[in-house]
Amino acid sequence: MMAQSKALLVLENFIGGKFIPCSSYIDSYNPSTGDVYCKVPDSGKEEVEAAVKAAKDAFPIWSSKSPLERSQILNKLADLIEHDLEAFAQAESKDQGKTITLARTMDIPRAVYNFRFFASSILHHITECTEMANMGCVHYTSRAPVGVAGLISPWNLPLYLLTWKIAPAIACGNTVVAKPSEMTSVTAWMMCKLLEKAGVPHGVVNIVFGTGAKAGEALVCHPDVPLISFTGSTLTAQRIMEKSAPHCKRLSLELGGKNPAIIFDDADLSQCIPTTLRSSFANQGEICLCTSRIFVQRGIYSEFLKRFVAEAKKWKTGNPSDPTVSVGALISKEHLEKVRNYVKKAQAEGARVLCGEGVDALDLPPGYQKGYFMLPTVITEVKDESCCMQEEIFGPVTCVVAFDTEEEVIRRANGVKYGLAATVWSSNVGRVHRVARRLQSGLVWTNCWLVRDLNLPFGGMKASGIGREGAKDSYEFFTEVKTITIKH
Ligand code: NAD
Repeated sequence: MMAQSKALLVLENFIGGKFIPCSSYIDSYNPSTGDVYCKVPDSGKEEVEAAVKAAKDAFPIWSSKSPLERSQILNKLADLIEHDLEAFAQAESKDQGKTITLARTMDIPRAVYNFRFFASSILHHITECTEMANMGCVHYTSRAPVGVAGLISPWNLPLYLLTWKIAPAIACGNTVVAKPSEMTSVTAWMMCKLLEKAGVPHGVVNIVFGTGAKAGEALVCHPDVPLISFTGSTLTAQRIMEKSAPHCKRLSLELGGKNPAIIFDDADLSQCIPTTLRSSFANQGEICLCTSRIFVQRGIYSEFLKRFVAEAKKWKTGNPSDPTVSVGALISKEHLEKVRNYVKKAQAEGARVLCGEGVDALDLPPGYQKGYFMLPTVITEVKDESCCMQEEIFGPVTCVVAFDTEEEVIRRANGVKYGLAATVWSSNVGRVHRVARRLQSGLVWTNCWLVRDLNLPFGGMKASGIGREGAKDSYEFFTEVKTITIKH
């Protein structure tokens, strides 16, 4: 036992520029083997208190630096992460279960880019000014950082989403206390080791590891944290709203989705099919933007389904480090069970499973048999009211159904509580504009998926969130605006 525990990676909180051990720890699993490989601090009120104090102490100096000084530090941090890209990618894949290919080509490059992007955008904001000549007045707005920002991130894109919050928060002059998911904390801890070298002053970025119920709630309830940026599930967001209400905190909530793809009969299927496979199964379907309801116009329904299922069967599932593998492991045993249960429920309701779970054999290499793997699964003949068409499954499961008219598909696509992302496939320009305008969705991609310009707003409608993130939106969220009137 002792020999095994010595080999475990043990993380420490990062508070005021120092790594600080915790009195108790949580086991963290390697999802592709099912083994415990890491101990994550089980922080609570005491650790959060220390981190908030360090962040408060660092605020006066950090907030008084010029945007250019902060920008240079963010760029340095980006360079350092990029220098260690391979080590970060390996760690992310091992910790989260995602394929090494995705970690190398998407997660870590995007974490680097998040710092570079906000390092640049912070230099280009302008405030407003108006004149009332008849009153002899000019009005202008001034923006200032808010203070200590509380940042809470999920497990599906660990460093990618954490840095999407840290970068704009500190670029604007705030100091932060961040809490990554207890299931994927390793890359955040690795990044802490680079902060000093990048020139980030002690206390500007503090990371407290632990569960949502203990560390997360302590942060949400802390009176000296006026702002919470949260990405995660709608259920947790409801709890955060309740807990932060007595303090009237500013909240940004990026939540779940039940994203439709609408495929009209004039779609270019040679583009649409590979992209819709990616949008359904990339990162094991564990991306908030993943497609899980595919509406196909009746004229091409049979052809689409046949080709889509044939291609889905080609996606190799298994060892995430194997470069030929496209589907890695799901995050946890419990999550795998939850996703499998959705498939069982659909079958019990009379739906048909065309490939994947329960239909095809999962052939795992030695050493990976206890991992949390599941084949890409396509369900059809499923009713719109079914839980598989209404609830976020967050796994490699997608439903394909037929539709007849534009009016009908808009109504059905909008018939869920979520409103995060939608894709529309058609070669009719008028139609894609018309449909995009009527979809209740914060993001609409036509004839593509996940093509992002970070300048523009990102976020969801309805139960998918409150607020938007992006160059201007994050700047507005992480700063407090004041209107000043000068009479001359
Ligand atoms: P989750 O809500 O369970 O946890 C998210 C984070 O909140 C974790 O760090 C967790 O420890 C913390 N947390 C949990 N309970 C808390 C509490 N009471 N107080 C404070 N913090 C608490 O979500 P998850 O399972 O980690 O992530 C998956 C969800 O995230 C999915 O619903 C997915 O759609 C969503 N998501 C949304 C986006 C987006 O940008 N809209 C991006 C990625 C993931």
